[in-house]
Amino acid sequence: LSFTSCSLPQKLLQNIEAAGYEMPTPVQMQAIPAALIGQSLLVSAETGSGKTCSFLVPIVSYCAKIHCGQLPTEKKPLAMILSPTRELCIQVEEQAKLLGKGLPFKTALVVGGDAMAGQIHRIQQGVSLIVGTPGRLIDLLIKYDIELDAISILVLDEVDCMLQRGFHEQVMQIFRALSQPQVLMYSATIPKVVEKLASSMAKDITVVSI
Ligand code: AMP
Repeated sequence: LSFTSCSLPQKLLQNIEAAGYEMPTPVQMQAIPAALIGQSLLVSAETGSGKTCSFLVPIVSYCAKIHCGQLPTEKKPLAMILSPTRELCIQVEEQAKLLGKGLPFKTALVVGGDAMAGQIHRIQQGVSLIVGTPGRLIDLLIKYDIELDAISILVLDEVDCMLQRGFHEQVMQIFRALSQPQVLMYSATIPKVVEKLASSMAKDITVVSI
């Protein structure tokens, strides 16, 4: 399997090439085609496997298609990525921007340490993707009215780590605020709590392990 065989937007393929990615990594080979056809996934993958790109490519592809031709004010967030730390969120958003360059694809970063007013302002201007930590996202959702009904893809990155940090309830709260999104869960290890979380979010979840 190659990136070009995945029927991705031409501009996204160019961005992948510009990033220097010639061949998909094993996790990308399995996760990208499955995610593109709407499957929910529980992926066991570690940092360094290319996991970030494996969820960003389907997200950029989906968002670029839906948001193409829409006015900025019509653009509601279509995807959300939850990650355990501010630093990870920043890295994920940076990769997302690289892959989405030149496409109708804007991102918002929702993490602690930055003013909430700026974050909500950015979202209200029309973004495709929200990347954030569960704690700050809940704070923002409580304080402001954010339209979440168009969010069709939810990524839980480093789930084991998020659970260790005590984010279980916040993650569930966010999930319940969405309308049955496709769920892409990534975890280095798959303990019982992670399996349980996965099955509580999706009836048919495909397990991907490399
Ligand atoms: P990750 O596992 O998401 O932390 O990615 C690890 C590193 O691999 C990052 O620096 C990516 O830029 C890089 N990477 C992701 N996909 C590919 C690919 N298909 N070929 C080469 N490098 C990649």
